[in-house]
Amino acid sequence: MLVEAAPAQAETSETLRRYYDVLLARLGPQGWWPARTRLEVILGAILTQNTAWANAARAIARLRRAGFLNVVRLCRASRAELEMCVRPAGFYRQKTAAIRNFLEWLERACGGSLHRAFSRSPEQLREELLAVRGLGPETVDAILLYAGGKPFFVADAYTRRILVRHGMVLPRAGYHAVQEFLHRALAPDPAMFNEFHALLVEVGKRYCKRREADCTACPLREFLPGGLHNTWVCRCSAPIHRGLPGSRQRRDKFRPALLRRRPRRACGRGLIAWMRRKKRGAR
Ligand code: SF4
Repeated sequence: MLVEAAPAQAETSETLRRYYDVLLARLGPQGWWPARTRLEVILGAILTQNTAWANAARAIARLRRAGFLNVVRLCRASRAELEMCVRPAGFYRQKTAAIRNFLEWLERACGGSLHRAFSRSPEQLREELLAVRGLGPETVDAILLYAGGKPFFVADAYTRRILVRHGMVLPRAGYHAVQEFLHRALAPDPAMFNEFHALLVEVGKRYCKRREADCTACPLREFLPGGLHNTWVCRCSAPIHRGLPGSRQRRDKFRPALLRRRPRRACGRGLIAWMRRKKRGAR
């Protein structure tokens, strides 16, 4: 069994390595994480949950102006002060609570020292951070990788979307399954994980969007499985936009109808999504 599986595994590793090389050549180094200190990385990882990085950056700028980008001063800040700083990142009550929970763990388990925290074994640290209320696996892995240089791939929504669309993981694969797939296929190299994840996020933002994939311009187009070229990929389960092979004319025929006007032939989910969008736009 192992003997049969080995070539497939080697092939996947080789393919992912080529994804990385092509992306690095086309998009260049992304310079992640945009932060000056470990604490800033940790705060950024918490603040960017469910929001764009620009909003998290505004919250970090407020924390900096208030002099809170320091573990000791951050621990002394009151809840109200922190909430005022965190507000631009949205969900400010939950995010403030998550920051305070993290600080409480840091104080209790590591005497308030980030150095001591990152001296733990990666597995132990991951387990302890996952037990902190408000820190999910994606946030914890971002902290471990970008603040601690530990080899944990951040298998976020962008990464999962690209791998699903390329037929490498199943559409229903969860965070841990996708991370395990990547860990099996790639050598545990924190620098490479760092850059590869940043490049995949860039592809997700620029080309491989949730409702629409601009495969024609995407650097990963050459790796897309045969029948999917020139296909508008959508998460909706209606047969006309399930991401099955389709012609450019067919895509162009349905895309305006689904995105801008009332869908003519969408399934129930597509119709409900369109009505919600319309309602939001009317407010
Ligand atoms: S835009 Fe197309 S080619 Fe690019 S990653 Fe997404 S599915 Fe693949």
